[in-house]
Amino acid sequence: MSASESSSTLSKSNVIDQLRVPLEKSGDTKGEKTEVGNYFVANYPPFSFWKPDHREDVFDVLAQPAPEDRNLGVYFHIPFCRKRCHFCYFRVYTDKNASEINAYLDAGIKEFQRYGEQAYLQGRKPQFVYFGGGTPSYLSVKQLRSLTNAMKDVFLWDETEEVAFEAEPGTLTEKKLEALRDIGVTRLSLGIENFDDHILEVNGRAHRSKEAYRALGFAKELGFDQVNIDLIAGMMDETEDNWRRCVDTAIEQGPDCVTIYQMEIPYNTTIFKEMKETGRVSAPVATWEQKREWVDWAFNRFEEAGYSVSSAYTVVKNPETTKFVYRDSLWEGADLLSAGVASFGHLGGVHYQNQADVGPYMTALEQDDLPIFRAYPTNHEERFLREFVLQLKLGYTRPSYFVEKYGENPLERFSDELGKLVDDGFASIDEDQITIPRHGMLQIDRLLHGFFLPQHRDARYT
Ligand code: SF4
Repeated sequence: MSASESSSTLSKSNVIDQLRVPLEKSGDTKGEKTEVGNYFVANYPPFSFWKPDHREDVFDVLAQPAPEDRNLGVYFHIPFCRKRCHFCYFRVYTDKNASEINAYLDAGIKEFQRYGEQAYLQGRKPQFVYFGGGTPSYLSVKQLRSLTNAMKDVFLWDETEEVAFEAEPGTLTEKKLEALRDIGVTRLSLGIENFDDHILEVNGRAHRSKEAYRALGFAKELGFDQVNIDLIAGMMDETEDNWRRCVDTAIEQGPDCVTIYQMEIPYNTTIFKEMKETGRVSAPVATWEQKREWVDWAFNRFEEAGYSVSSAYTVVKNPETTKFVYRDSLWEGADLLSAGVASFGHLGGVHYQNQADVGPYMTALEQDDLPIFRAYPTNHEERFLREFVLQLKLGYTRPSYFVEKYGENPLERFSDELGKLVDDGFASIDEDQITIPRHGMLQIDRLLHGFFLPQHRDARYT
């Protein structure tokens, strides 16, 4: 056992020491320091525009039958983790016992049953199912089986093309992975983030590399359709040498796909809180320029190893067989029935988010109410814009898709914005294709804000 493995918990004072690291050591030797805030565009319009006053708009949708050609995804949020990572901005619980977790799962099942009774959802079969968190793999085998059996009673999985499941390596045993495969999970996503134990420890991860290798071994033996590894470029204490080793290790492990995020420091993270205490403006992580260089290096390395870049964040081993049903379907406007605390859904053009704390979430369900906290009814223009910006993250999109679906050509609607991207070398236009080259893809989230309606620019994404 290495020194870092022997101490799995970083105390608060250790974190403050990390934040006192001089800028040079933290990788902040080039411009574009990593300051606090979310850069990642997960949806449109931004969440800060979603309001409790619009809850009724969700109920109006639910009272009507759905269009026949509309795909449906089902999401369930598991907000439990073994410990809180220092970069985490989600509402997660690290102190719940088995009976509290069972009560939460019962509430979630009740929520699905309520939705299953609504005209908009009755009898519909999900195209995809997604378990996110938090840490879905924190649940026991027994909890997973009873949860998924109850979900299948309401929304049959017999036509489901993908069942995706997020897992933290340290929570996985061979038995649990077998159960996941039996339940029908096709896409196992392992939150490995880094293969170096020191980096994992400094950033507050619960697992260590030994657990990552063990989980990967079991997953390969059991033959899931797709095994994905998540990595983060630019975690605290990351160095170029270590990042390169980390990428090469991922390639040696041979996953079907790899997702790489660039480290950001949203407001409600432990790192931000410590920054406030120490008066630092920029986070003790690599600069944006450094992170882009690292992801670029990783993409090149994966390509040399036979992988293909399939979006601003992903490489896949075999583009013919490795599909992202949930991503592609959502980015083409599918419905997402989302259940669980703080989860985000989208039904009939109305965005909604559930109560963000377990207390009000459970109370709403005890009172036979749906636990929706806030919502946003999108208009035609916002739906068009949403799909356009999300699809640009793939690195290309076809204007004819939007003409057919929305009766509007993005080349005309966004002629100024696209012209600027072309002038700056961040986009090219060729007949029926808008292409974002690699250096544009590496900073795509920053570029997308330029397409937003004026009132939505500069909005916070949390
Ligand atoms: S495992 Fe994910 S959800 Fe849980 S604390 Fe870490 S970053 Fe947050």
